[in-house]
Amino acid sequence: MRSRRDFLQKLTASFIAMPILSRQSYAETERKLTDIFYDGPVLRVAIMGLGSYGTRVAEAMQACTKAKLVGVISGTPAKIAAWQAKYNIPEKNCYNYENFDEIKNNPDIDAVYIITPNALHKPQAIRLAKAGKHVICEKPMALNAAEGKEMITACKSAGVHLLVGYRMHFEAKTLEVIRMRQAGEFGKILFFQGLSGFRIGDPAQWRINKGLSGGGSLMDIGIYSLNAARYMIGEEPVWVTAQETKNDPVKFKEGVDETIQFQLGFPGGAVASCLSTYAMNNLDRFFLNGEKGFAEMQPGHGYGPIKAKTNKGDIELPHITHQTVQMNEMAAIILEGKQPVLPVDGEEGLRDLKIIDAIYAAVKSGKKIQLTS
Ligand code: NDP
Repeated sequence: MRSRRDFLQKLTASFIAMPILSRQSYAETERKLTDIFYDGPVLRVAIMGLGSYGTRVAEAMQACTKAKLVGVISGTPAKIAAWQAKYNIPEKNCYNYENFDEIKNNPDIDAVYIITPNALHKPQAIRLAKAGKHVICEKPMALNAAEGKEMITACKSAGVHLLVGYRMHFEAKTLEVIRMRQAGEFGKILFFQGLSGFRIGDPAQWRINKGLSGGGSLMDIGIYSLNAARYMIGEEPVWVTAQETKNDPVKFKEGVDETIQFQLGFPGGAVASCLSTYAMNNLDRFFLNGEKGFAEMQPGHGYGPIKAKTNKGDIELPHITHQTVQMNEMAAIILEGKQPVLPVDGEEGLRDLKIIDAIYAAVKSGKKIQLTS
């Protein structure tokens, strides 16, 4: 370990001496070397739900140094067989939704990443906590704040971590904008705008089935603008107002929101104005405005590369696959107790769920809702 570290230090020091390498490419080279020579602990992860995002996470994890895909939980035997062959997953690390409580007897799996429809997150997380496994859960963490609290309690009493798949919390340009705001480079923050949306296709999919999704665009995509309003402004909102527009009530049935505009008020005086929709494409933009400057990110929350500029110019930082960074960082949180710049724990998931509850209540009542922490 010591000699590897010495070797790495010498190797990177020799790169410093190379004048042709820019600061950015030097940092990138150093990161790659650190990855190659990593010999610390590795988080052994099973993915639950082998759908479109689960597939993306599995691919991204192949480049992880601190996390490794070792197991699967799925309701589709053909997918299990395909993943076993592709990722060399042993039979003893494969489960279905009926038998996965048995994972408690499997010492070769440390954590399970839940990537299933939203309504399944809570019951699956509670079963995994009871099985003694760390839980990583996709956003939204649950259908509402009451469910989120149950998940936090279950994981606390089982002594396991509960983390939420907020991949933007580890994205380099996002973190640079936050560093600049914290350093006062934008002055007093007065305004945030978040636009999140896409035109949803297949009307039969779970995303527009209230029983499985818990809502509509807000649960799925609008949550990015909501979450960003909080991390970009750096405060917790104290009030919310919201309005819903529905042009296709056949596709978007009762309880499934097509388009919601919501506004959040912050204690320092800033206001956020956000749009969440399943009816329009090309909505992936954040804008933060302060007395001395601004930050603009477009795309701001897609898979990237994220583009960010401020009043001082473009932010140039290398793009690394979001889910690779996320899983390495989550492994460091679980295995090394690392503190992330932006939280990704159950309490963070709960904060968003409380505001989502309030946005739906504001749509229903047409009133301004006060938020309590
Ligand atoms: P998919 O429909 O592509 O996949 C979901 C998978 O869940 C299915 O393939 C299936 O896997 C499993 N599943 C179990 N029960 C059901 C059920 N009743 N109906 C449908 N599927 C079921 O969805 P996504 O992968 O796009 O989304 C899954 C989760 O990930 C959601 O919570 C979503 O919000 C989140 N997500 C997060 C993203 C991010 O960037 N952080 C991006 C996209 C999604 P199997 O056949 O193996 O059982």
